[in-house]
Amino acid sequence: MLDPSTIDRIYDAADIIDVVKDFVNLKKRGANYLGLCPFHNEKTPSFSVSATKGIYKCFGCGKGGNAVNFIMEHEHLTYYEALKFLAKKYKIEIVEKELTAEELQQQNERESLMVATAFAQRFFTETLFNHTEGKAVGLSYLYERGFRDEFIRKFELGYSPEKRDAFTTAALKEGYKKEYLEKAGLTIIKEQALYDRFFGRAIFPIHSLSGKVIGFGGRTLRADKNTAKYLNSPESEIYHKSRVLYGLFQARKAIEAADKCYMVEGYTDVISLHQSGVENVVASSGTSLTVDQIRLIKRFTPNITVLYDGDAAGIKASLRGIDLILEEGLNVRVVLLPEPEDPDSFSKKVGAAELQKFLKENERNFITFKTSLLLGEAKNDPVKRANLITDVVRSIAVIPDAVMRSEYLRECSSLLKTDERVLYSQVNRIRRDRARQRFPNMPSLPEEKTSSSTYPPVVLKDENETHEREIARLLILYGNLELFTYRDEESGEDYTTTVAEYVIHDITQDELELIHPVYRQIFEECHDLLLRQMPITEKYFIQHPDETVSHTVADILSSQPHLSKIYERNDIYVETEEMKLKKIVPDTLITFKGNKIKNALREAEEQLVKAAESNLEEEIDLLSRKIMNLNALRKDLSKNLGNRIIL
Ligand code: ATP
Ligand code: MN
Repeated sequence: MLDPSTIDRIYDAADIIDVVKDFVNLKKRGANYLGLCPFHNEKTPSFSVSATKGIYKCFGCGKGGNAVNFIMEHEHLTYYEALKFLAKKYKIEIVEKELTAEELQQQNERESLMVATAFAQRFFTETLFNHTEGKAVGLSYLYERGFRDEFIRKFELGYSPEKRDAFTTAALKEGYKKEYLEKAGLTIIKEQALYDRFFGRAIFPIHSLSGKVIGFGGRTLRADKNTAKYLNSPESEIYHKSRVLYGLFQARKAIEAADKCYMVEGYTDVISLHQSGVENVVASSGTSLTVDQIRLIKRFTPNITVLYDGDAAGIKASLRGIDLILEEGLNVRVVLLPEPEDPDSFSKKVGAAELQKFLKENERNFITFKTSLLLGEAKNDPVKRANLITDVVRSIAVIPDAVMRSEYLRECSSLLKTDERVLYSQVNRIRRDRARQRFPNMPSLPEEKTSSSTYPPVVLKDENETHEREIARLLILYGNLELFTYRDEESGEDYTTTVAEYVIHDITQDELELIHPVYRQIFEECHDLLLRQMPITEKYFIQHPDETVSHTVADILSSQPHLSKIYERNDIYVETEEMKLKKIVPDTLITFKGNKIKNALREAEEQLVKAAESNLEEEIDLLSRKIMNLNALRKDLSKNLGNRIIL
């Protein structure tokens, strides 16, 4: 941990222009600097950096933030790592929190394990290229598989000799401790005797994101059926299988450049694809994908394409795992390879050019792929078809984005020849059930009886978000400015409210809340600053430790017009936003509230339809009255600006 004053010093030192220009060629354009965005491919510059605000923003891909965000994004570092990166650049001495004895020991242990695995990798590679057995057995096997030197080096492949303790003996001789060799999974201790885990195997080192060797996979070179084909390092302090993707270190730049990541099964698939010029590829190494692994990919791209091989049954078994990827909001596509090829064998069979062409031409969106696959099986069997629909609908229901969901529903309804509304209501039921499980106190709705009565798909561009963003923007930009002055009739004294006081008071007294997490957080922190009588500043939010907040605020600020500048320069009258606050602020609050009422109305109307279907008299009565009230409120609001509303 860094102490707050060190963090402050880093922020103060890290001039945004200075930080960015290490990576991007910047040209001055008016008040800002402009360059080619490092986060997406572009030919004309849309990457803008503001020295005065201390932020960057790409108008092409939308990425933006402060100097620390830039380093995080560009170097793929955590917040803490980025701070250390900048501290180093600006020669700021870092005062870290004292580690406890336990933390210290853990850190030392990790380092000791890393040192051991690094040594092991060098030993295995050295053996592969320079020793008689390594060359005769290991290297010739890799050549036979078609791996070329360049790629054997790139993936730091190696060979562990047949002799049961060749590696361990060498490591002990070099002074590596038995304890760490065992903990790193390199050495097995059995009845006081030491054995190499990977003896007689071709070695595939597994790298961390920053390229350190943290584990190994070893392939046996015997035909013996009793020996496992692949052996992997066990879990250790440095190797957590579920948080690592094989090949990510070698692929990360290519994944970013292509904005896509191919998923394959194993080591050999990854290396073969590299040899065929496809470098944006990773493997989950024999296990099914975990959420951590998916999030790892998400740091580099939202687009995953899974390469499938094998028969329908095998593919069907793995479909469930893909829902996890959908749930994380990633776009999933698939490419089905012709039987019996896997990516490794196929790339060698058809060569680089044809492979790349095949991948491009045979990529399909996952949901429609799954639908047709299952459809092919179900044929006209009604029971199977019903199960299939449920299955597809379940996959669609996990997708977080409403627009994407509705697109999939449209496609699938035509594939399945099923009414879109039927699918839509099923998706909604699943989502509602899920929400209810998560929030047990949510009022429960009567079950839908038939699908014919459900609403047609409504996909709204989220209006709430627009309004809440506007509220956050006003708070951050103008929060401290004076807005209205009231005269207290009794005392005759004048009171002045600031924008922040007005906005926060108005929303909280109606017991309303912002629902989007970031804007809600900004709102609450402003409220907090207000209570503590501290000013609301842009800097506070731009330098916010929560990355989502700082990004959002940078985004908000960079979409600001600079009207006041025009005013000063040309000496002509232009009304700036600042001057119009007396109108903008109340208007924004009214729109926000109006929208809340509209949402409540829609919800009540939906409930009413369902209650009517189930003949729930009391419920119908209650809801009808609620709807009347809401309509009255709505009228009031549009007539009587600034009235209180209570839902
Ligand atoms: P073969 O030469 O028989 O095709 P292979 O080495 O290509 O053998 P496959 O059985 O084809 O291996 O498996 C394909 C990929 O799956 C391999 O690249 C490997 O990385 C991965 N794999 C298979 N079994 C395991 C396992 N037990 N642990 C980790 N990865 C595995
Ligand atoms: Mn194979």
